[in-house]
Parts: sequence; C-alpha cells; structure tokens
Amino acid sequence: MCARRTPVPKFVYSFTEGNKDLKDLLGGKGANLAEMTNLGLPVPPGFTITTEACKVYLESGSEPEGLRDEVSAHLDALERTMGKRLGQADDPLLVSVRSGAKFSMPGMMDTVLNIGLSDASVAGLAAQSGNERFAWDSYRRLLQMFGKTVLGVDGDLFEDALDEAKHAKGTSDDLDLDAGDLEKLVERFKGIVRSETGRDFPQDPREQMDLAVRAVFESWNSDRARLYRRQERIPGDLATAVNVCSMVFGNLGSDSGTGVAFTRDPSTGAQGVYGDYLQNAQGEDVVAGIRNTVPLAELETLDKASYDQLMGIMETLENHYRDLCDIEFTIERGKLWMLQTRVGKRTAAAAFRIATQLVDQGLIDLDEALHRVNGAQLAQLMFPRFAEERPGQGEKAPDRIAWGIAASPGAAVGKAVFDSYTAVKWSRSGEKVILVRRETNPDDLDGMIAAEGILTSRGGKTSHAAVVARGMGKTCVCGAEELEVDTKKRRFATADGRVVEEGDLISIDGSTGKVYLGEVPVVPSPVVEYFEGTLHAGADEQGGLVQAVHRIMSHADGRRRLRVRANADNADDASRARRYGAQGIGLCRTEHMFLGEERRKEVERLILADTDDERESALRTLLPLQKDDFVELFQAMDGLPVTVRLLDPPLHEFLPDITELSVRVALAEARKDHNENDLRLLQAVHRLHEQNPMLGLRGVRLGLVIPGLFSMQVRAIAEAAAERRRAGGDPRPEIMIPLVGTVQELEIVREDAEKVLAEVAAATGVPLDIALGTMIELPRAAVTAGQIAEAAEFFSFGTNDLTQTVWGFSRDDVEASFFTAYLEKGIFGVSPFETIDRDGVGSLVRQAAEAGRATRPGLKLGVCGEHGGDPDSVHFFHEVGLDYVSCSPFRIPVARLEAGRAAIETAGSDSR
Ligand code: PEP
Ligand code: MG
Repeated sequence: MCARRTPVPKFVYSFTEGNKDLKDLLGGKGANLAEMTNLGLPVPPGFTITTEACKVYLESGSEPEGLRDEVSAHLDALERTMGKRLGQADDPLLVSVRSGAKFSMPGMMDTVLNIGLSDASVAGLAAQSGNERFAWDSYRRLLQMFGKTVLGVDGDLFEDALDEAKHAKGTSDDLDLDAGDLEKLVERFKGIVRSETGRDFPQDPREQMDLAVRAVFESWNSDRARLYRRQERIPGDLATAVNVCSMVFGNLGSDSGTGVAFTRDPSTGAQGVYGDYLQNAQGEDVVAGIRNTVPLAELETLDKASYDQLMGIMETLENHYRDLCDIEFTIERGKLWMLQTRVGKRTAAAAFRIATQLVDQGLIDLDEALHRVNGAQLAQLMFPRFAEERPGQGEKAPDRIAWGIAASPGAAVGKAVFDSYTAVKWSRSGEKVILVRRETNPDDLDGMIAAEGILTSRGGKTSHAAVVARGMGKTCVCGAEELEVDTKKRRFATADGRVVEEGDLISIDGSTGKVYLGEVPVVPSPVVEYFEGTLHAGADEQGGLVQAVHRIMSHADGRRRLRVRANADNADDASRARRYGAQGIGLCRTEHMFLGEERRKEVERLILADTDDERESALRTLLPLQKDDFVELFQAMDGLPVTVRLLDPPLHEFLPDITELSVRVALAEARKDHNENDLRLLQAVHRLHEQNPMLGLRGVRLGLVIPGLFSMQVRAIAEAAAERRRAGGDPRPEIMIPLVGTVQELEIVREDAEKVLAEVAAATGVPLDIALGTMIELPRAAVTAGQIAEAAEFFSFGTNDLTQTVWGFSRDDVEASFFTAYLEKGIFGVSPFETIDRDGVGSLVRQAAEAGRATRPGLKLGVCGEHGGDPDSVHFFHEVGLDYVSCSPFRIPVARLEAGRAAIETAGSDSR
C-alpha cells in the first residue's frame, strides 16, 4: 500500500513547460517566453518562478519550502543545456533575473542582469568573449544593478563614480572607457557596496541569484509599483513571477545590439516597421532612453540577415496572437534572440483601427474586435484636439517651438514644470501643468499622473515616458531633441535660443509631436463630430478612425441587450443625446426647470404662502412654465420614453443663503430700514434649515407635505402630452417619484396623480397612458422592493443616493475630504460613486430587481445614477438584468459600447 501524500505545489516552470494562457501563474513575460519557445522561436533557455512562490514569500517573509530544491533542479538542467555552469570560472553561464507580473508594469519592478559574474569568472568571460572590456563592463553593470536594487545602495553613488571615471578620461561617453578603466571602476563599486552595506558583494553566484530573486519578489510592494497598480487598477494581490534567463549580449561590438519593435505602429495602428535599435548595447539602455536609438528600419542595412529573420518572426507572432505584439530582442554577434513579446499597449485610436483591420484580414471576428476596445478608449477619442496650424482670419498661427515624437495622443495645455514634486504640488493647487524632463524614469510617476501631459527631449516611442503615458492615456511628446532641457535651472531653451521658464504656458500635441509656446485653442474631435452627425460615418478622417468607430459602435448596438437613455432636462440636451444614440430619457430632473430668477421667485412665493390661495396662485403661475418645458422635451424625444422625476431637492435650495440673508436683514435693521419680505424670508429659511438636508425634507416627502406641488407637476406633464398628441406627436412620458422609502408614500402620491391624469384626459379628450414608477435610492426601498413594486410600474435605481445612504457617505463632501486616504490605503480601488460597489450597493440592486420582478413580472428596470455611464458598472447592470442605463449625453456612446461588450462577454461565458 502506498502512503497518501499531499501534492507538492510546483513553483518553477521551464520555458518549455509553460504557455501564453498561464499568465496568472507565470506572469505575462514568463507565459509569453514559454509560448515563443514552443513556437520554435529563438529564446534563450531559462525558467520561471511562479507568482504563487512570490505570494508565499510576501505573506510569510521567506521562500516557500521546496523552492530552493526546485530552482536547483532547473538550474542543473539549464547548465546542462548550455554546457556551462552558473559563474563557472573559465566560461561562466550568466543569467538575468527579471520580474514579470500578469499585467505589464513597465519599469516598476526590479531586474538584475549578468548574475554569475564574480572576481573568479570575469577573466573567464573575457577569454571566452575575446573582449576584456566587455567582461569588465558587464561586471560593473552587475555591481551597479545588484548594489542598487538588491542591496538598496543609493544609485547616484554608482552614477557619480561612473561620471568621475569619464571625467578623468576627458569624455562623456561610456564607450570611451577601456578595460583598465572599467576594472578600476569595478573596484570602486565594490568599495561603495562595502561601505554602504557593511558587507562585500557576494561572490557566490548562487547566492547572487537567490538574493536577486528575493529582491524581485519584494519589488512587487515597492512604493512606485503600488502607486502604478492603483493608477492602473491592477489588483494588489496578484504578485510577480521571476524569470531566470540565460544571458545573451547585445554589447559585444558593432555586430551586436538590442532593440524593441512593434508589429504595427502603437500610436496610429498603421502597418509597417516600427521600433528602435541600439547598436552595441544591453537591453535596458533602449527603454531607459539614455542613448539615442536608430529607427528599426536601419537594421536592414546594419544586419540584413537578422532584420529579415526578425520581420518573419514578427509576422509569425502577429498571426499567432492575432493582435499587435511588441517585442524585445537582442542580436549577439549576428545571432538574433527574442527576449520578450506581449500583446502591445496602444493608443485609443490605434485600438479601434487595429481591431477593424484584423477583422478585414480575417484574423478576428467583429465580436472579438468589440471585446478589444473599451469605453475608456472611446471617451479618450471624444476629447477635443488642437486646431490645425491654419489660423482663421485675424488669428495668429500657434508658435511652434519643437517637433518631437508623437508618443501618446491628445492635446494638453499647461504650465511647464521640471520635476515630479512641483508637478504634484502645482496640480494640487489647481494649476494645469506639463511635466518637462530630459527623459523620465519610474521615480517621475507621481508627476506624470499629476500632469496634463509629458514632454521629454530624449528617447523614442518606447522610452519610459512614452510607454507609461500611453498606458495611462496621457498626452506625451518625447524625443523633442531641439529642446535643451535644464532641470536644475528649471527651464528649457528652444533651437532659436528662446528660454521657457518654469510656469510658462506651453501646449503639446501627442498626436503630431508638436510643441507650442502659449495656449493653443482646441477643436472638437472627429469622433464627436461623427456622433453629432456633422461628419459622415464613411469619412476617412484621421486614417479611417471614424469608420472604425462607426463599425464597432454599430456592432455593439446590434449585440447589446441594455437600452441606453439620457439624463437630460432640456430640449438641447435631449436632442444631443438623441444624436448620440439615446433611446429615451431615463431621468429628467425637474428641479432644473425651477431655476432662473422668474421661476425661483415663484418657488419662493410658494414657500412663503400663508394661505391656500397664495400657494395655489404660485402653483398656477408655475404650471404653464413647466408645461412648456415638457412640450419641448417630448418633442425632442418624440416616440421615445421620457421619465420625468417630480421635484427632489429640499426647497431651501431655492431660497437665499442663510448667512447672506441674515447679514442683509441685520444691516437693514441697523439702518432702520425694515424689509418685510426679507424678514419673512429669513424666518422661512430658519424654519426650513436642516442639519442634513440630503436626509431631510426632499423627494416624495416634499410632495406629501406641500399640498398641490406634485399635482401641479403631474398636470403639466399630462397637459403637455395631450398637446403634443393633438399636434400629431408621439409623446411617451413616464412619471417617477424620488426618494421613496416605503410603499405607503408611493400609494398616496399615486392616487393623487391618477386623479389628475384622469382629469386631464377627460378635459382634453386625449387618452393618457402614463406609467408611474419610483426611484430606488434608499436602502429601505431596496429591501422592501417586493412591496414597492405593488404600486410601481417601473424602478429606476438612483445609485448616487443609494451609494450615499448604504455607505453613510455624504456624496457632496467625502470625495474631497478623505477619499484620497481611502484609495491610498486600498480600502477601495476606485470611488464607489464612480464605479458601482458590487458587493454592497450592487447586491442591494440585485436583490431589489429580483424582488420587484417577483411581485410584478415584466417590471421595467433602469438605473439613472452616475454609474449608468461608467464602463464597469454598465457590465454589472447587464449582469443583473436591468432593461436600460441612463447617463449624461456625452457618456451615451461609452454606455452603448460597453453594453455591447457586456452582452458578448456574457454570451461567451455562457457557451464556455
Ligand atoms: C441618484 O440618486 O442616483 C439620482 C439619479 O438622483 P440625484 O442624483 O438627482 O439625487
Ligand atoms: Mg437621488
């Protein structure tokens, strides 16, 4: 009988064992290295330590049991494959130790190259490579990276020592340092390590490797990695995998080099050869933007064989992944090696264009194309852009001061700032800023988040600034080489000698790469013009962008189950909403119709009324005004439902401010100038004053205590509908009661409303079939939804108030007061006022929807809180079976797109 053993978890996978679908376990980099290995592409052999191992380490503070043995076994196998041992004195195997999480976090975690070099093996590497300079340079790079990332030594100490060595040699170029200089620098670096850490640089290669792995695990929780995750909404508990990969060298001479490439242009989606190449350099040099690269196309003249092979591999990868891939590669003495690939980040415009191009190429279908774009990208495409450089009459042409690389699109205007700290400080005080740097590094992340846009004078499309800005959807121009940026003096100089100081206004265009002095006016995006109907769907505007958007939107409309309505309360907004694809109005807030001095005065008269006559007189004046508003609205939305919500906010919102009025009355008293009206007004303001107005006399409560108010509104709606019908229109009003907590409230209002509707129908001779429903925006309403549905023909979830009351968060105060602290502490990843809190508020929505439909099958369900236009929330509302979402007109296209995506995603998971 054999003993039962609990299976030992597997923590290490050789590149030959994994595949692209194991990203949770192997991280994106590890999974794709395995996939490329399996495709037979030239990947240097290696293995991946799983995210599970990292999780154990982060939870317990030590490596999981068994990890060491597993790593030993994989290292043995690697050594056998390579025919040399790690750090072997006469011919050392060297490895890189790289982080790699499920989602790409460029430059946010640690990487150490050249592990295995030591005093003993540096000579062996020199002999084997036949290049003594290279060996010492590799050793000093190891000391520098290991010292900084693994041992925590201040990186500037190494940089300063390197600068001194170059200065002593009278050069500013690393390549001018010879083997002897670098050997001395190695000694100097070892001294820095010793004096800063109190220990010697570890000479045992396996110890180097183990410490590097541990440092990569720990870098998952570095400040900048946490900040990036919060920004990008990457969950904090995924952990990183660690890739141990045999080293190949791009810095062995001019027949070597390293580069990055895209299978298509990530900023426009155009097909072609895109990327950067750096001769005689090691991997990190390209992304860091330290030395200037050449366009990838030049590799064809430098090394035709490698170039041709690379083009072939790129085609294989794009066809295999059926998407834009980005690639890191190295050429070692004429031999091409693939170091990384992944489905590449792209701009919003490129995402739409590429998705439709791939459909045309037959690589994906329209469902997949829809799945590959999202509402956030569409929203970005709707931002305005800079006017062309063709000024109208009397206008001055914008003053262009540089033309850099269009790295991440958008039009950004702001004051130039030269460091991250100032960017954050100024933006907190309400200034719009552009962060200007020679190049950015991960320490600039705070400033990049705070800035409107980023401008650098160095680096290409794949520099840190470009990659991170694209990921954030932030405007970026990089490599504006005409600009001399002096961050110490906080200014930059233009090619014609002008100087732009900190605080001067500049404008950057991330779609063209142009940089302007001063503020350049902006114009609407072509995508908005398309939605507005001023640009034809077939327009070839911006490289087919409008066509691509039209195609994908049409598909989303064909696939979605959720209908999309608008929150609008005037004819202009309603018409725009309709142009944007609204299928009705889900929320007309009638309080907006009480604004304007003439109407506000009438509300004031209503509040101050001492007698029924006075009150009725005020209501009689308001009635025709309300009716006219509804006539216009029903006309704009003819044939489509219009949900009119009866008055919601506390009445004192229509009265003067208590402090201002008190001062006015006090001053008048002092002058013995009594104003009877002001005195009565002040008494009313005091009477109506509430400590918590949001929980006070508002919504249905107003209708119940102010006689005639709701009836007047219902009459206005009914008369407007009758008038429109008589004029040959097709008005479809629905009446909605706000802030209901119990069915009794609704029953009373309903009874009155039905009477008024019957009266108007009888008086006008027009039959009126107007549904009466309620908002569900209080926890009690949600919990008793089954009872409320007895008296309601529809529910519309008011998730703004529901979030406020479920959490006990004052919606007007908390976002400014303590939400930043909550977000920083990870209590939630995004404000619950922005994206529905599925577990709390969402769960009530789900229960109420089920209970409501149990009472009244076919009960119409919608949502009209801000969440109705939020991408993630739209998916939730689809899942819980609502009939429609309602949002502000500008967000309607986003809601349509996401409703389509939600439909195909659930269809996909049903069939799985
Ligand atoms: C809501 O509470 O979600 C809602 C739509 O109503 P308002 O925002 O007007 O309170
Ligand atoms: Mg509300």
